[in-house]
Amino acid sequence: MLGSVLAVLLILTLQTHDRAVEGLEQWAYDYTKYHTMDEISEWMKTMERDYPDVVSSIIYGNTYEKRNITLLKIGLSSTDPKKMIWMDCGIHAREWIAPAFCQHFVKEILGSYKTDPKIDEMLRHLDFYITPVLNMDGYVYSWKDNTTRLWRKTRSPGTDTCTCFGTDLNRNFYANWGMVGISRNCCSEIYNGLSPLSEPEAQAVTDFLSANRDNILCFLTIHSYGQLILLPYGHPNITAPNQDELMKVGLAAAEAIKAVHGMDYTVGTPPKVLYPNSGSSRDFARLIGIPFSFTFELRDKGQYGFLLPEDQIQPTCEEAYQGALSIITYIHDKSYVRAAASSIAATLWSIVLAVWLSCATV
Ligand SMILES: [Zn+2]
Repeated sequence: MLGSVLAVLLILTLQTHDRAVEGLEQWAYDYTKYHTMDEISEWMKTMERDYPDVVSSIIYGNTYEKRNITLLKIGLSSTDPKKMIWMDCGIHAREWIAPAFCQHFVKEILGSYKTDPKIDEMLRHLDFYITPVLNMDGYVYSWKDNTTRLWRKTRSPGTDTCTCFGTDLNRNFYANWGMVGISRNCCSEIYNGLSPLSEPEAQAVTDFLSANRDNILCFLTIHSYGQLILLPYGHPNITAPNQDELMKVGLAAAEAIKAVHGMDYTVGTPPKVLYPNSGSSRDFARLIGIPFSFTFELRDKGQYGFLLPEDQIQPTCEEAYQGALSIITYIHDKSYVRAAASSIAATLWSIVLAVWLSCATV
């Protein structure tokens, strides 16, 4: 009797173990491969389920084809009000390394906050708002077949007089819209849309940023390719008030990137290091007062271009992670560490002054 009970228990234990292993295998997500939109959406749900105390999701808009634009919010709970860091990937459909980077970034942050006191500290002060794929319709289309792999734009239809599909989302924001580096031809890769924010995806980002403009410290938007860190503005005649600091922070990020695998990233405004443009999300973020706003153009410099092989996903993400972390750490420390240091200094000075005054009156 006891023997058969033990045997049943053993079988049950083994079955449970098998299911657990199966579960693990099912969720052993491969970060060294490109993933479809469905896989990425599933991955987002898994992150939320596996890290319920740190990860939640927010739907903040819909694409033209009515997909839910979703971001992951990552942060530790705090009794003090928190500041925000924005990151979006996949605004251009064919730049597949960008969504891969957003996923890598989330994995690294979640994998290190329990053991790395600096990440823990930052997650207590800051919440990360990360959109792995912004141009979801375009991304799905770029996965359709070989003829659509290099699709860049959204999937909204043209007009009566111009029947091509798609608007360049990164020319559609209300930031010097239509002024430079755009096309009014709807068949062009850089067609800026019928009007500013004609695209629901650009409208969704605009609404989110505008509602939170006073709390967002940093805006990072991830593209490929070219190995560049771009600062505002795309228009050659407009300069950000904190351009020198943006340049300094960008150069430090490029140094952090180089330290990982020796890759060179160039830092500067688009007119200086790429080409002038207008209507970008990066420029919009800076225009509404978000102090730090950068575009990353990841690997490579043109050898494979948008078709970056999968064996470069890992090294590209490793180096860009250090670059992004360098920027975020600077911004965090400027707001919290240095702010705390100066408030301690101010307190010390007031004590000194009080002692001096009381001595003087005696
Ligand atoms: Zn791009």
